[in-house]
Amino acid sequence: MIWLDFSMFLVLLGLFLYVFSSSTVTVLHRIYIFLHVVFMLWPLFQFASQTVSDTSYRLFYLSGSYIGLSLLGIGWFAFILFLTGQYYVIRKSRLFLISVPALVSVTVVVWNPDGRFLRIDSALEPLKQLQHGSLYWVMIGQLVLYLTVSLVILLYKLGRRDDSARQRKMVRTALNGVFVLSFFAIMDFVVNVAYIDYFARYIPLISVGMTVTAIYIVHAISRNKVFDIIQIVQRDIMNTMSMGIIVMDENGMIIEINKVIKPFIRFRVGDIFNLEAMVSPFKNETRRQLLEFFEAQRLRPLDRIEVELAMDMNHIQHVIVQSAPILNQKKRVVGRVITIQDVTELRMLVEETNTQNELLQERNRELLIMQDELYQANKKLEHMAITDGLTGCYNRRYLLQQLEGEIVNNFKYGIPFSIFLFDLDYFKSINDRYGHIIGDEVLCSTVEAVRSALRLTDVLARFGGEEFTVYLPHTNREQADIIADRVKEAVEQNLVLTGANGVPVNVTISMGVISIEQIEPSALEQPKAFLRELMAQADAALYEAKYNGRNRIVKRKLA
Ligand code: GH3
Ligand code: MG
Ligand code: MG
Repeated sequence: MIWLDFSMFLVLLGLFLYVFSSSTVTVLHRIYIFLHVVFMLWPLFQFASQTVSDTSYRLFYLSGSYIGLSLLGIGWFAFILFLTGQYYVIRKSRLFLISVPALVSVTVVVWNPDGRFLRIDSALEPLKQLQHGSLYWVMIGQLVLYLTVSLVILLYKLGRRDDSARQRKMVRTALNGVFVLSFFAIMDFVVNVAYIDYFARYIPLISVGMTVTAIYIVHAISRNKVFDIIQIVQRDIMNTMSMGIIVMDENGMIIEINKVIKPFIRFRVGDIFNLEAMVSPFKNETRRQLLEFFEAQRLRPLDRIEVELAMDMNHIQHVIVQSAPILNQKKRVVGRVITIQDVTELRMLVEETNTQNELLQERNRELLIMQDELYQANKKLEHMAITDGLTGCYNRRYLLQQLEGEIVNNFKYGIPFSIFLFDLDYFKSINDRYGHIIGDEVLCSTVEAVRSALRLTDVLARFGGEEFTVYLPHTNREQADIIADRVKEAVEQNLVLTGANGVPVNVTISMGVISIEQIEPSALEQPKAFLRELMAQADAALYEAKYNGRNRIVKRKLA
């Protein structure tokens, strides 16, 4: 029956630990509870061992106290890790790894093979009956290991300048705890092991040490509000965030509400959520939207729903209201959280961005128009640069430039081509008789007549004054002769009706025609010189035509 009591104690202890580890207390709470229970085990079992004289009971209780002692290292180590802000180490996967030495020690204590951890020799005198075997050092070793590592971490943390003052204070507290505990452990060794004969009695110094350490830590914790701070922080976060929050339980009772929401809704913690009270501060459209929103929430309690409202307070305020169920681990609804977020600035920013975008697009359109205008102007300039203002033919510069390129090409591929050079006959006298304006009209009309006799591919250019050149690509002598005759004929037939009275004027032209059918390769090397030669030949032919009486054609074929 004695075991039933003990079992009940263990069950109660287990329940106590379970409640703390499974409810929503912080990790620090859990670690401290564990450490505290470990602290309690040693004195409890030490006491129990001294209340019995039976060897097996004594051994059992002593094992209990040594289990407590074995767990002290890991408990302390976890506590230090948390205090120094390295809680990321205490993850489930790593926790097992770092507890291995402690677990080995517990195993050794429980197993105690052949009394190699602890043996009670009742034949000896009372103070020497406890015989620690070689495995005892496994426990001592792991304790020293945990203590040393935590000491290193603490000293390292203390040396760092960038930690907060609060954290440094906690580190110093823990460091003092290590010293107190170590001091008593050493004293215990001195008094109860090394000089046991001198003191001649058992003095429970480790128990005292653990208690002093625990008192010191509890004092430090309450002074620094280590546990409260988490709640304070949570409340701070709730109250400083820009989002309004209402948390209610499954019956609609409000269990948390933050400051932001208070100006809007007059709810307090403990009130039952009341739809009428919730929508009453709002008018018309907003009120209607809100009622619709809560109706949707009622119909779809498992969904997260959202509505954006444009509320007409002093100015238009945009808010997003969200309602989401709070689910427990079994996906059962245990409450509901409503958040209200002011997105006015965001909306304004979006509007501003849209306006900017539109402006930018407008500007882009203008730029495109300007670009087009520039292109047209450029084209016009280009056209002006290569044409003659009066007659609209190409100018001399353009023709020579084109010819240079064409000649090279024609030579390369053996393409025949021809050139006309013609000049109006006795034009000076027309100017003298009718004046320059009419002279111009005659000039333009003659150009039109020439153009009508040419092909589309032929290039007509004003060479200067009333002298013109025609480049006829892909044209041999026979073809050139035919076209030249056609041109001369067209001009001859062209009766120009000039001025307001329509005075008929008729002109003729004299023309030099050059056809190039076979080309010397040397021409390819110096196209400019060749062109000069070509024009000189054409000029000579024209001169000959003039000399021979005008209104005629002189043809020459260049080899
Ligand atoms: P020829 O048969 O020997 O060519 O006799 P011509 O009178 O035509 O003599 P020439 O070619 O030497 O004279 C050219 C004249 O053409 C001189 C100039 O007054 C006139 N002329 C040149 N360019 C223009 C022009 O753009 N407009 C007008 N109206 N006359 C021009
Ligand atoms: Mg002339
Ligand atoms: Mg002339």
